[in-house]
Amino acid sequence: MAVILPDPSRGFTVTVDADELLDWYRREQRDLPWRRPGVSAWQILVSEFMLQQTPVARVEPIWRDWVARWPTPSATAAASAADVLRAWGKLGYPRRAKRLHECATTIAAEHGDVVPDDVDTLLTLPGVGTYTARAVACFAYRRRVPVVDTNVRRVIARVVHGRADSPASVRDLADVEAVLPDDVRAPEFSVALMELGAVVCTARSPRCGLCPLGSCRWRSLGFPAATEPARKVQRFAGTDRQVRGKLLDVLRGNAAPVTRAELDVVWLTDTVQRDRALLSLLTDGLVEQTPDGLFALSGEGG
Ligand code: SF4
Repeated sequence: MAVILPDPSRGFTVTVDADELLDWYRREQRDLPWRRPGVSAWQILVSEFMLQQTPVARVEPIWRDWVARWPTPSATAAASAADVLRAWGKLGYPRRAKRLHECATTIAAEHGDVVPDDVDTLLTLPGVGTYTARAVACFAYRRRVPVVDTNVRRVIARVVHGRADSPASVRDLADVEAVLPDDVRAPEFSVALMELGAVVCTARSPRCGLCPLGSCRWRSLGFPAATEPARKVQRFAGTDRQVRGKLLDVLRGNAAPVTRAELDVVWLTDTVQRDRALLSLLTDGLVEQTPDGLFALSGEGG
């Protein structure tokens, strides 16, 4: 079914064809474990926490181990904070692990160990923002709700608005809502739109020759250049994130608290940066100090 969007600013219409998109998705979708039948809402929620700013290939093995070990919110809540941080491994942005643990605790204690199925209640959970709440409602409970990540935003910018990309905007949800089919296909359409942005309509080299969509305004206009400056690719080497990761590696690898010297040795390049990184880990509650001045993962400081 084609959804026709009038575009008074340009004087022509844009179509987004659900059948074209869904036919392609059913043929070409990646076999991702959290999309398989029988995966619970909790396990889908875990995948969404892990996938934030992290590639699928890095998430997949950690997610598999995680859901095998802690298949429910209550099982996760019963784990220690340190075990959760260890299981998070090198996924990065470890505050997500802490928030996921808090989220599990809230669901176990206040929602009968069942992930809520509506966006408003999901939004009350620790660590759950607009995107994650909508993704869980849509992918786990098959609700017809717009789900907007960077991939979806880019596809809509190109197909509907004829732009190379688009910064986040208050219009995003309405834009995606406008192209969602009005029937039971909506949840699959949402994941298909995301998949198209992830594997075909990519940011740097869209593979238009493989695109299933017959109509794309950006293509029709001859691929006009972006008007906004390109987003900077975040470097990792030399950042505080890298130093925090190295400090956490030491603590993950030790069951007992470690000395300051054992931490200091992992980053001698810039001692001010190292101290700042350690302080931020303490402030975030990921690391704690023992009464005798040693350092440990949260909950292991005695
Ligand atoms: S035709 Fe090209 S730019 Fe348009 S949606 Fe398909 S891949 Fe993206």
